[in-house]
Amino acid sequence: MTEKGIIFKGIGGFYYVNTPSGTVECRARGRFRRDGISPLVGDIAELEYTGDGKGFILELEPRKNEFVRPPVANLDVLVIVISAAPPVTDLFLADTMTAVATHKNIEPVIAINKCDLDPGDMFFDIYSKSGIRCIRTSAVTGEGTEELLDALKGRIAAFSGNSGVGKSSLLNRIDPRLGIKTGPLNEKIGRGRHTTRHVELFELPNGAIVADTPGFSSFDTTEMDLIDRKSIAPAFPEFRPFLPLCRFRACSHVKDLGCAVRGAVEEGKIPKSRYDNYVRMWKSAAEYKEWEHK
Ligand code: GDP
Ligand code: ZN
Repeated sequence: MTEKGIIFKGIGGFYYVNTPSGTVECRARGRFRRDGISPLVGDIAELEYTGDGKGFILELEPRKNEFVRPPVANLDVLVIVISAAPPVTDLFLADTMTAVATHKNIEPVIAINKCDLDPGDMFFDIYSKSGIRCIRTSAVTGEGTEELLDALKGRIAAFSGNSGVGKSSLLNRIDPRLGIKTGPLNEKIGRGRHTTRHVELFELPNGAIVADTPGFSSFDTTEMDLIDRKSIAPAFPEFRPFLPLCRFRACSHVKDLGCAVRGAVEEGKIPKSRYDNYVRMWKSAAEYKEWEHK
């Protein structure tokens, strides 16, 4: 009998696939290794059920997207947790994450956490203006968690953001069964690597599926390096209406004359900080390419 389901966990060559009739412990067929494809958490797998809660994976559906670190596929939502209270988020990191998510066909959702300490009005203004869903949250008071849960409903999500911003606390607030360790960074060392390596999916009562790791804190540079320079501007949703209006079709939006994006920044239609971070990304992508071709 064949069944279909999502891989929730992978440990030591076993994959745990959640199917309509329960969790099935699977091995992958040898074909996967020959093709150089390893099943990832988040993959939709077709499996042959051999009875007794066991089976083997026959086929994987084409992926919507995939990450290497942490290893997970088919994300629908990336919750980018930022904070205006210490440690205050460097928006370059947040903007890199929104761009990577958008480029990978993932909806970025900004959670301005620690809003009990600082409402982060400037951050809220920037992301609302950029057409990115933006929610003020507090893992302490619970503000915004209902709205956040609503954004995740029926979708596969992961959390990212600089360390200390409250990713673990927010995940635990959403569902205490997650039981992720929180607290100062130095107390978390030692399990950080472990959580980054083993991602497990977790289903919430509203049908949302979340990766149980706050390990998306450092994927930015590696993932960003893989994005072609031309793909960066379209990954900023608020740039899109202006892209066809630039005088030159190959406009880099960095210094060219007659650039409609730069015009929109001057008119206050595009937040200056978003534009500045675009330029920084564009320049570092260029440097990377030159380095690569040496
Ligand atoms: P992570 O590194 O992003 O996973 O951050 P943690 O969840 O470990 O949180 C870091 C610190 O911030 C902990 O001491 C938390 O208690 C605290 N914290 C997390 N969220 C909030 C919040 O919404 N409000 C306040 N006041 N403190 C928070
Ligand atoms: Zn332009």
